[in-house]
Amino acid sequence: MFDITAQDIKYLQGVGPQRASVLNKEINIYTLNDLLHYYPYKYIDRSRLYYISEIDGEMPYIQIKGTILSFETLGEGRQRRLVAHFSDGTGIIDLIWFQGIKYITSKYKVREEYIVFGKPTVFNGRYNIAHPDIDKADDIALSSLGLRPYYNTTEKMKRGNLNSHAVEKLMQNALNLLKEPIAETLPQYIIDEHHLISLDKAIHEIHFPHSADRLRKAQYRLKFEELFYIQLNILRYSKERQMKFRGLNFSKVGDYFNDFYFNNLPFQLTGAQKRVIKEIRNDTGSGRQMNRLLQGDVGSGKTLVALMSMLIALDNGYQACMMAPTEILAQQHYESLKKLLFGMNVRVELLTGSIKGKKREAILNALLTGDVNILIGTHAVLEDNVNFSSLGIVVIDEQHRFGVAQRAKLWSKSNTPPHILVMTATPIPRTLAMTLYGDLDVSVIDELPPGRKPIKTVHQFDNRRHSLYESIRKQIEEGRQIYIVYPLIKESEKIDIKNLEEGYEHVCEEFPQYKVSVVHGKMKPGDKEEEMQKFVTGETQIMVATTVIEVGVNVPNASVMVIENAERFGLSQLHQLRGRVGRGADQSYCILVTGYKLSEETRKRIQIMVDTNDGFEIAEADLKLRGPGDLEGTQQSGIAFDLKIANLAKDGQIVQYVRNVAEKVIDNPNFEQLNENKKLWEQLKLLRKNDVNWSVIS
Ligand code: ADP
Ligand code: MG
Repeated sequence: MFDITAQDIKYLQGVGPQRASVLNKEINIYTLNDLLHYYPYKYIDRSRLYYISEIDGEMPYIQIKGTILSFETLGEGRQRRLVAHFSDGTGIIDLIWFQGIKYITSKYKVREEYIVFGKPTVFNGRYNIAHPDIDKADDIALSSLGLRPYYNTTEKMKRGNLNSHAVEKLMQNALNLLKEPIAETLPQYIIDEHHLISLDKAIHEIHFPHSADRLRKAQYRLKFEELFYIQLNILRYSKERQMKFRGLNFSKVGDYFNDFYFNNLPFQLTGAQKRVIKEIRNDTGSGRQMNRLLQGDVGSGKTLVALMSMLIALDNGYQACMMAPTEILAQQHYESLKKLLFGMNVRVELLTGSIKGKKREAILNALLTGDVNILIGTHAVLEDNVNFSSLGIVVIDEQHRFGVAQRAKLWSKSNTPPHILVMTATPIPRTLAMTLYGDLDVSVIDELPPGRKPIKTVHQFDNRRHSLYESIRKQIEEGRQIYIVYPLIKESEKIDIKNLEEGYEHVCEEFPQYKVSVVHGKMKPGDKEEEMQKFVTGETQIMVATTVIEVGVNVPNASVMVIENAERFGLSQLHQLRGRVGRGADQSYCILVTGYKLSEETRKRIQIMVDTNDGFEIAEADLKLRGPGDLEGTQQSGIAFDLKIANLAKDGQIVQYVRNVAEKVIDNPNFEQLNENKKLWEQLKLLRKNDVNWSVIS
């Protein structure tokens, strides 16, 4: 049967080859079906007429019915504008155009009756509407208008006469063409069980809603479907993986773990640490392969959880491996684990790119014989010549720099894939994590070890530099160290480096008696490490850097984080940077330096930083302010979430709901074969084919 919705958009009445090419290029619309899934971004109630005498200057969009009394052209050059004096008998309002004057004067006539729609403003004591929508009064039956859709358009579309109005007309034409209901994309049993409206109804109502209530139902149905298929895709994938791979079974907790717990552990575990260790213990002892994401704010004690998980592997005769994104971090982990394991019979080795020759050979051999129990390293551990005798668990610290492909590479290092624990300090809101890392189980450390002094965060305008330097001086005199961070934005790297260099010179002049380190992305890795190391050892007191200063680096003596041009950072990034301080016993400070002129959104962002130290609260706020597409986690994972209708920030409840629905589908032992599910797999296949983003998830 011929499916009309597959028809090329250029054959639709009102399109043609030229407009079709604009639609293709600008908004990715090639077929009728694409067009029908191009949803409005807002609706305006057009069922009611206002009188001009009712207008009070604070109204949103309104609609009035009347006639143009006269036209007038005013102003010169850029100020030139066309004014139409419009009256409905109760008053006069000016309609104003700055562009398309010729077209307007030829199209609209004096004394014809029109319906005018737009947002009224007051200028020089007169009401006016700039660039209103105008229809001939007898062209539209008001009651049929109801909620009117508004579509996003681009500059190029507008130039091709494809404004929201035009898209609306095309939509009408497309819907009129349909002789049959649009084919359903969800199985009937899911539609029934969750009281959804049909796809056909939803598409009609999303474009031309008969009422606010029907619009809500249409939106719900479409969001449900969009989010449901994402979850179904993730769950089916992880189910397949579970069936394909058995997991190592860590059946017991033995001496390594217990010795450490009772003799070496220098403090009480926090409740959250205990809970997470229990979750990991359950996973690794279940016979399934563990894939767990551990989220915990900076300083929440993730390393300890990692260590104790690795000790469970040792207790079951396996080796463990921990990967960090940089040499410095790997080095730090190595040293702190050696300290924690002091006196125990556990061999820990460090493997990074700079460990070469005989030393490297010796480590590689000891890995093969099983003499090395725990290997700490960088990407270097992924190299093909690094092989274990029996790798049981891999811990990945700061996951953002490890892609899915690298995770997969780890699996090849043993016959049965090792358990994987991914740790991150960038908190990801739950609903987002469910979508981004849907194949990972998530554990959260939501409690800091006792006795931490919360970091004090202040906002300072950059014209108060003097007092800023005074506070820095005082801290250094007390023996503390200081970070000063400059933004780095890819497009303007040159300018940023200049900022940084000027800042560096400035700081050197201001503090001639102290030593200053400088680190930025354009430096050779070796030089970078060297400068970092100088700061770590305390040889330098001030570190001037771009954001390349490594996530997770631990310099407990650093007590002040100054962030220059703080307005140019996202919330999560600010929080991450702030986490570099507050690791010692002293009071720490974070100083956000900005210019005087700030947008409303920036002001909010800075205020949130000043108000809270809670990473999850900040992540939620970030998600709301910026939308999920911009969050670091999303970008890094390569999944740009340009969802068509759902919004991960606002539709968290629906995400949770459809996750449960998808779980129920997958939990049925015959889920693949069931006839009633056939539509699901067809639809998944289609979505995978059409949507590049999906190939990243699976
Ligand atoms: P992160 O989660 O940022 O990786 P770390 O594991 O580096 O945090 O821990 C930060 C600091 O807190 C370390 O010095 C660590 O020894 C200490 N720490 C961890 N757990 C506890 C605890 N339960 N009680 C006291 N201090 C702890
Ligand atoms: Mg850490």
